Amino acid sequence: MKNTGMVRPLDRLGRIVIPKELRKTLGIEVGSPLEFYSDDGKIAIQRYVGVSCNFCGSVNNLSYYKNSFICIDCIDEMQGRPSSRDSRSSPPIPEEPKSEPKPIPKEKKVRLTQNEMIEKLRSLIQEYPNQSQKHYAQELNISQGRVSQLKKML
Ligand SMILES: [Zn+2]
Repeated sequence: MKNTGMVRPLDRLGRIVIPKELRKTLGIEVGSPLEFYSDDGKIAIQRYVGVSCNFCGSVNNLSYYKNSFICIDCIDEMQGRPSSRDSRSSPPIPEEPKSEPKPIPKEKKVRLTQNEMIEKLRSLIQEYPNQSQKHYAQELNISQGRVSQLKKML
């Protein structure tokens, strides 16, 4: 095997783009079945011609003709007969996922609204009427200044 000098990155779904030049040279088209070979840490990809139609890639109703496989539809087409191919649907080509998966949001401290804060302070004061402002501040996880501000709004 010779080095083509072409480098392509693998995407996160394990897909890789086969360089256009190579596809052209090897006669690989959209939908062409490809066969993987692996040896000694290397991967080789070859057009899968073993048991698929040499013309359309179909694996159904194959005949062997002059060193290649050909399916009954292609035989029909060559002989000018209407083929049943149109009634069949080819397997869909997987689409690129449209958006990146959203990053998992980092855990945020729940910030209370001012009204919720006032309510909390109110119930704290009812529960512990003689506590210092400092204590309320610690309970609510806010500054003492904020506590006195809120107290004015009670
Ligand atoms: Zn065919």
